[in-house]
Amino acid sequence: MIRQAVIMAGGLGSRLKNLTEAMPKGFLEIDGMPIVETSVKKLFAAGIEEIIIGTGHCSEWFERLADKYHCIKLVKNERYADTGSMGTLACCIPHVWGDVLILESDLIYDNIGLSVLINDSRKNVILASGATASGDEVYLEADSNGILKKHSKDITKISSVYGELVGITKLTRSALDKMNSYCTAELQSQPKMEYETAMSYISSNAGNGGEQIAIRKIDNYAWREIDDENHLEMAITQVYPLIKESESLRSVRREVLLNPGPATTTDSVKFSQVCADICPREKEFGAVMEWISQELSGFVGDKDKIETVLFGGSGTAADEVMISSCVPDNGKLLIVDNGAYGTRLAKIASVYKLNFDVYKSSGYLPLDAEAVKAKLIEGKYTHLAIVYHETTTGLLNPVPEIGRFCKDNGIVTIVDAVSAFAAIPINMERDGIDFMASTSNKNIQGMAGVAFVFCRKSELEKTKDYPMRNYYLNLWDQYANFKKTSQTRFTPPVQSMYALRQAIIETKIETIEGRYARYSACWEVLVKSVKKTGLKMLVPEEAQSKLITAIIEPESSSGYNFNELHDFSIANAFTIYPGKLSDANTYRIANIGDIQPEEMERFTVLMEEYFSKIDI
Ligand code: PLP
Ligand code: MG
Ligand code: MG
Repeated sequence: MIRQAVIMAGGLGSRLKNLTEAMPKGFLEIDGMPIVETSVKKLFAAGIEEIIIGTGHCSEWFERLADKYHCIKLVKNERYADTGSMGTLACCIPHVWGDVLILESDLIYDNIGLSVLINDSRKNVILASGATASGDEVYLEADSNGILKKHSKDITKISSVYGELVGITKLTRSALDKMNSYCTAELQSQPKMEYETAMSYISSNAGNGGEQIAIRKIDNYAWREIDDENHLEMAITQVYPLIKESESLRSVRREVLLNPGPATTTDSVKFSQVCADICPREKEFGAVMEWISQELSGFVGDKDKIETVLFGGSGTAADEVMISSCVPDNGKLLIVDNGAYGTRLAKIASVYKLNFDVYKSSGYLPLDAEAVKAKLIEGKYTHLAIVYHETTTGLLNPVPEIGRFCKDNGIVTIVDAVSAFAAIPINMERDGIDFMASTSNKNIQGMAGVAFVFCRKSELEKTKDYPMRNYYLNLWDQYANFKKTSQTRFTPPVQSMYALRQAIIETKIETIEGRYARYSACWEVLVKSVKKTGLKMLVPEEAQSKLITAIIEPESSSGYNFNELHDFSIANAFTIYPGKLSDANTYRIANIGDIQPEEMERFTVLMEEYFSKIDI
C-alpha cells in the first residue's frame, strides 16, 4: 500500500521568468486553483495519508498550503539554488517510511495515472506517455522488458524512444536510498543532478547493486509539465479540458442523502473500496486497521490515552459492546432515555439483565442536567449511559457537563456518540467520557460496516475481569486480541475498512471543527427555508444539534403527504427520512455527509415548491 507521496518543489522555475520570480511554479493557477494544490487534492483522494513537499524557492508559499492541508509535511532544501531536483528529493528521503509516489510540482495530470501506478504489481514504476510535442520532452529508453535504461532530452542520444517521462513515479525506499548514494557520490561532478539521472543510473545498474525501474506507458495520457509560458498556454487551452472531461466520466451518479446516515460519501471514499483482494490476516491489512484505530483515537483525544476497538457491525453493535462489557456485576447503571436510541440502550441492558434504571426525559425539550446529576447521586449509581445526540429528533444532550460531573463523582460514563462523533468536537478527557460508541457510516463519511468503541485506557483496563456476557461483542477480548495480533478476532469488513481509512484521511484534512462548520452552514440554509415556508421545528433551536432537524408535519387535511414529498425529492436525487417519535408527526432532514450548502439550497428550493401547494 502506498501511504506517502513526495512532491519536489524546490526549483526556481526560471524559464517562466516574471511569473515565478516571487512564487514557486506550483502556484500557477488553472481554473482558479494552484496546480500543486490540485495535485495535492488528487493525491489525498487516491489514498495518500501524508505528502512531503521538498521546498526551496519561495518556500513560504508552501507554508500557507500546509496550513490548509494538515497532512502535508514540509522539508526545505536549503541548497535549492545550487542543487537540482535530486538534491530536493534527497532532503525528503529520511521522512519516507515505505513505498512512495514521487511527483514534480509543475504538473497537471489526469488522476488515472495515480491509480495505474498504485495498481501496477511492480515495485518501482515510472509513468510515461506517448509523444506530447511539448518542446521539453524527457525521452525514455527501455530494455526489452520495459525496464528503464536511459533518459535524455536529446532524442539523438536515445536509440529507441519507449515513452516520455511524465514526472510521476512509484519507488521503494530502498530505490530512493540507492539514488541518494549515487547523488552523494557524484556531488562534486554533478551538483545539479536531476532525479531522473539517479533513476536511470540505479535501473541500468540493476545487476550491480542497483534496482530495476519499470516504465508504464499510457499512450494518450493527458498531462503537461509547465516549464515555460508556451507550456502554460497548452496546459490551459488543450490539456486541462481533456483532464477535466476524462475525470468527470469516472464520477459516480450523485445522490444526496438527507437521511441521518448512512451519509453521502465522496467518490474517493467509494473508489477506495475497489482495490486488490487481500486476506485480512496479512500483516498489511493489520497495519491498515492499526492506523485506523490510532487515527480514530486522535480525533477524540490523546492517542496514548485512548484505545479505539474495532468491530464488524453497525452502530447498535458498538452500543451493545459497551453496555454488555463495561458494567461489572456489582455496578449500578443509570440510562438516560430521551429518544429512540436511549430506549435502545435500555433494551440492551435489559437483555443482559443488568442492574439498571432509566431516567426518562422529554424527546424534544432540553435535558435537565441538574436533575440527572441529582438522580445519579441519590441512586448511588456507578455508571451512566447516555446518547450524545438523539438522532430521533436532533436533540443534543449536555454530555460534557454531565460527563465532568460524573468524573468528579467517580461515575463511569458510557456514551452513544453514533451520530455525534466526527461532527461535534469531542475530547473524551475534557468531556468526562470513558467509553463512546460510533460507526463508520455517519459523520466520519465512510461506508457502513465498521463499529467502534473509544475507550479511556485506564477504564478499559478495569473491564478485564468483568464477566464475559457475550462472545462476538466482548470489548476486552476484542481489544486484547488486537493488541497481540493487530487482527480482529473474526473476519473484518475488509472493503468498509478501506473506505473508513479514506474517510479518515479526508476528515483529517477537513478537520472536525471544519466539518461541523460546513454541516452547520447547511443547517442554517435549511432552517431559513423551514421558517420561510411557515413550517415548525420540533426541538427548540438552541437545543438542536444542527445535524438533523425534525420538522412538524402539517395536518393531512392540508394536502400534505410524506410519501409525495419523499418521491418528489428522490426524483431530484435527494433522499429524505420519516420521523421516529410516536407522539409527534415529523419528517426529518439530516445535513451530514459529503454535502455542501449549495446543495442544501437546491433542496430547499424543491421543498418550498412542494409546500407552496400545501395549506400549512
Ligand atoms: N445510536 C444513535 C444515536 C443513532 O443515531 C443510530 C443510528 O442512527 C444508532 C445508535 C444505531 O446505529 P445502527 O443503525 O448503525 O445500528
Ligand atoms: Mg521540464
Ligand atoms: Mg519541470
